[in-house]
Amino acid sequence: MNDQKVLDRFNKNYIPEPNSGCWIWLGQPHCDFGYGRFGINKKMYQDHRASWYIFKGDIGNLCVLHSCDNTFCVNPDHLFLGTQSDNNKDQMKKGRTNGGPKGVPKSDEHKKNIAKGRRGKKFPRKPKI
Ligand SMILES: [Zn+2]
Repeated sequence: MNDQKVLDRFNKNYIPEPNSGCWIWLGQPHCDFGYGRFGINKKMYQDHRASWYIFKGDIGNLCVLHSCDNTFCVNPDHLFLGTQSDNNKDQMKKGRTNGGPKGVPKSDEHKKNIAKGRRGKKFPRKPKI
């Protein structure tokens, strides 16, 4: 996009971090997701999505992911596009999710394990002899 006013407004909302090269978002926080938010043409974007839109262009239905793993970063060079499934895999890889919504057990067996104070995968296996 080519809108100097939007760009100027966006540029006032972050500070570059010299070591990592990340641009740390200082603007309005988005209470639901822990991301910042930024309005363009009366539409609200998450901070990093706004960054992609301003500097790189259309996002479509894709997710904007962080290569630097800093959720406050809005440096377009640290962002890449991926599908929702890429996003899930990426978060899983970075340990940001336990594979389901917070605190919601996935199955009856999982519930039983939680009731017994344990989680299936953490059990030590018997060594093979
Ligand atoms: Zn970054």
